[in-house]
Amino acid sequence: MTDAAQTAFLDRLRGLVGASGVVTGEELRGRPASWTRPAEPCAALALVRPRDTAETSAVMAACAEAGVSVVPRGGATGLVDGILCAPDQITLSTERMTGIEPVDPLAMTVVAGTGATVEAVQGAARAAGLFFPLDLGARGSATVGGTISTNAGGLRVLRYGMMREMVLGLEAVLADGTVVSSMRPLIKNNTGLDLKQLFVGTEGTLGLVTRAVLRLRPEPAGYVTALIACPGVDDGARVLRAAQAAFQGRVSSFEGLWPDFYRLMTKPGRETPPLPQDYPFYAIIEVECVPEEAERFHDLLDGLMTAGTVLDAALASSEEQRQAMWRIRDRVEHMNADGIHRAFDVSVPLARMDAYVTGALARLAAIPDCRAVVYGHIGDNNLHWNTTRLDAAGNTAIDAAIYEPLAELNGSVSAEHGIGLEKRGKLGLSRSGAEIAAMRLVKRALDPDNRLNPGKIF
Ligand SMILES: Cc1cc2nc3c(=O)[nH]c(=O)nc-3n(C[C@H](O)[C@H](O)[C@H](O)COP(=O)(O)OP(=O)(O)OC[C@H]3O[C@@H](n4cnc5c(N)ncnc54)[C@H](O)[C@@H]3O)c2cc1C
Repeated sequence: MTDAAQTAFLDRLRGLVGASGVVTGEELRGRPASWTRPAEPCAALALVRPRDTAETSAVMAACAEAGVSVVPRGGATGLVDGILCAPDQITLSTERMTGIEPVDPLAMTVVAGTGATVEAVQGAARAAGLFFPLDLGARGSATVGGTISTNAGGLRVLRYGMMREMVLGLEAVLADGTVVSSMRPLIKNNTGLDLKQLFVGTEGTLGLVTRAVLRLRPEPAGYVTALIACPGVDDGARVLRAAQAAFQGRVSSFEGLWPDFYRLMTKPGRETPPLPQDYPFYAIIEVECVPEEAERFHDLLDGLMTAGTVLDAALASSEEQRQAMWRIRDRVEHMNADGIHRAFDVSVPLARMDAYVTGALARLAAIPDCRAVVYGHIGDNNLHWNTTRLDAAGNTAIDAAIYEPLAELNGSVSAEHGIGLEKRGKLGLSRSGAEIAAMRLVKRALDPDNRLNPGKIF
């Protein structure tokens, strides 16, 4: 595009969304490229901030006409470089589409703008005496549109499923500006293809989500929360099964913490360790229950301790203690402070997790200067690794140690963060050639000119 054509194009966008809706130059360079690249400025030609679906549609149509590709940007907390831009692309930010309509208390639904944060939706639900179950460490910045587009998981998948399960309807704008509106607040709707699913977990490659009808749940009556220590992850899995049976599936979280992770988070000056630091495996277990059921939970743990399945346990006896336990799991800044920056997110069947972690830890220990910790939502088969960032050869060796065993174990190179740019080269480890070819067919059908988030996923 010539300079004159570029100026005319940006003026046209200003005409569609107002002058303050188009951010360029120094102001744009002040925004980070992505969460994982905080020191790198956003490289896009412009950041465009439509206020609603109609403006989004007009912007997309203008970009299609000018041959400019578009990268959707939500809260910018994604961990796989899904929002990285080239200098000839625009990034379409949802930051002005944050409205949340009044909760429908009977249908137990809420309509939220794509730029509303997860925390804001949780707050709106709570104010109406209801509960929005999606929860993740990035809740204050991650958006409805971002969590839909990545099919976010988080801390309560065990009981409520991933974001996909919370979306009853949505509205999306295709690459040519067409609006596809499926805003029905229905749990059952088998009328042909479930089009909304095209936009869940597809990382902004098929359409730009502008609004959604979200499903809410009754607020849990209370929780019991404990940190337990076990001889290993297999025993942890037995605790999970026993608790699910005893509480009829009401275990809402089961987070595994391997010893190096626990020791890092509970170093002097960080979080207070509720249990000694030398056990082989830890887990935070949380069950939704009324206060009268707490005694039954204690009895369950007592029985498991007598059997040797649990070695030690600390129960949270107040909300403050519960929050303190969760901080041991959530405070990623402690890992950053120790220089363990590279985040990995994989899935492994629970029955094979012990062998996988043991093998990967041994391979990682053999890489010079590599430090690694492992933890995760193990009740959902999901492990997170955090490692040091080394030179190219070192990083390749780390990738191999973590990713290579997964295909044989029937695991996945991405449990909940998506593929983005970062894992593009790894997709073939978890998906067959036929699956990837089918994905490409869908992409070509909806975005034949490859204008929406090009180069992401594949
Ligand atoms: C501290 C921390 C903890 C986290 N914990 C979890 C966790 O437990 N579980 C989990 O799943 N993830 C977790 N994440 C990752 C991240 O928060 C999620 O991927 C989240 O869904 C991203 O939302 P966002 O609004 O920040 O999206 P962005 O980062 O802005 O975008 C993510 C992707 O979605 C696309 N996109 C964004 N908005 C739209 C839209 N409106 N329409 C179409 N495409 C769009 C973007 O192009 C990009 O490809 C964590 C991240 C951090 C920093």
